[in-house]
Amino acid sequence: MIISDERSAPEKSTSLNTLPLALILMGPPGAGKGTHSPHLSAYLQIPHISTGDLFRDHTRRQTDIGKQVKSLIDHGKLVPDHIVSEMVFQRIFMQDCQNGVLLDGFPRTSAQAQALDHKIQETHRLLVIQLNVSSSTLIERISGRLSCKCGKSYNKTYDLPQKENECNSCHGVLYQRSDDTKEVFQKRLEIYVQETEPVIEHYRKQKNLFEVDGNLSKEEVLSQILKRLK
Ligand code: AMP
Repeated sequence: MIISDERSAPEKSTSLNTLPLALILMGPPGAGKGTHSPHLSAYLQIPHISTGDLFRDHTRRQTDIGKQVKSLIDHGKLVPDHIVSEMVFQRIFMQDCQNGVLLDGFPRTSAQAQALDHKIQETHRLLVIQLNVSSSTLIERISGRLSCKCGKSYNKTYDLPQKENECNSCHGVLYQRSDDTKEVFQKRLEIYVQETEPVIEHYRKQKNLFEVDGNLSKEEVLSQILKRLK
């Protein structure tokens, strides 16, 4: 258990509009979730919670969770639902999340979506943005991606950092993620189709889903998302 500054779940509110927002950014690997999340998080003034970033941080620090998940991540497999859900639910009720959260990479399975619905049904209003991107664009983005431990990413072909191999924001050393190879990407995409696409359908039925064309330029995608949010 981590939490020292956990707040208790807010009292049930009678008006949905007064509840903090739980914004979920969904899309296949390489869709641009990590690119757009920092902008949305700054615009909405709510923390960006990326489950992938949290797991990578755990593996770097070699925590118990990090040791359990490293091989799964390296092979493009999903981390078991109970590990992810517990980590997310601890995080979203922390003090800095009282005005809302931006979830990136969660939920990724129907069981995670149901657990989230149950957990926040009385405490948050839910909105889901789905980024749709063609598989050829995804592979181009993933195979050229350079990542930084601060969460920012670049591309060897069309989005180079100002200094070679150095993050513009935090000056960290850029690296290629172990799961950003063509082979592991194929596995991640298969899992996305099997496990995560049903989650999109789940939110579509709830009428909480907005879809955006993620093939467009970074600026256009962000502007489409902001339009939807307004
Ligand atoms: P991402 O940075 O979102 O691409 O996530 C990297 C990896 O972390 C995934 O391929 C999974 O192994 C693991 N992961 C992240 N989020 C989840 C999740 N919600 N459920 C299961 N595994 C996850």
